Amino acid sequence: MTRGDSYAGYRSKLVEAVRAAGVRELAVLRAVGEVPRHLFVPPALQRQAYEDSSLPIGNGQTISQPSTHARIIAALRLSGRERVLEVGTGSGYQTALLALCADQVFSVERVPALAERAKASLREAGIANASVMTGDGTLGWRAFAPYDAIVVAAASPEVPGPLLEQLAPGGRILLPLGPKDRQVITLVTLNPDGTVNQEPLTDARFVPLRGTHGFAG
Ligand code: SAH
Repeated sequence: MTRGDSYAGYRSKLVEAVRAAGVRELAVLRAVGEVPRHLFVPPALQRQAYEDSSLPIGNGQTISQPSTHARIIAALRLSGRERVLEVGTGSGYQTALLALCADQVFSVERVPALAERAKASLREAGIANASVMTGDGTLGWRAFAPYDAIVVAAASPEVPGPLLEQLAPGGRILLPLGPKDRQVITLVTLNPDGTVNQEPLTDARFVPLRGTHGFAG
């Protein structure tokens, strides 16, 4: 994709940082090594794009630390054949990582300006298997359901019902579950018999999910 550009050396250092943070899945590490993160942050912050840290992306939102994205995607155990729904596109960086680890990615962002910028960044990065729509992601994206995996990139007070409805049997949802000030990243699995398992993975602090099945306001 962007091998050989002037940021390639920084990207391999970032891969080492993500590996040092405990991520071992090769597909995820390869994605971190390939996605040009500098295209997903504001121009003034491009020099910091390859540090393993979160950065402001405008509209009061943040792009998470790359190792956090990597851990989340690793927890989904993608084989490369999945159709994935992402709620909360933000910068589009995680969308790009997912696109390299899955077959197709559908991503919904509530803030139109962020959705438009993410679309442009994905295009510039040469990612062709991800689609972005402006809307309330707590309602999912029904047109392309069912999804094998769903990732929610914002703090959720509950598992939004429409997301469970749009999940394929055996599918999983990964989301930061809990109140606005602290959450637990939780893996929700829809068993083939229709029952649901919830497995708490790790503590986290994300910006709030707004919308019909999110926080009010
Ligand atoms: N992973 C992103 C960061 C996401 S921040 C990245 O790589 O940049 C969380 C995002 O969720 C924000 O952009 C916020 O606007 C969005 N969001 C919050 N509520 C939403 C909703 N109901 N539907 C879609 N997006 C939502």
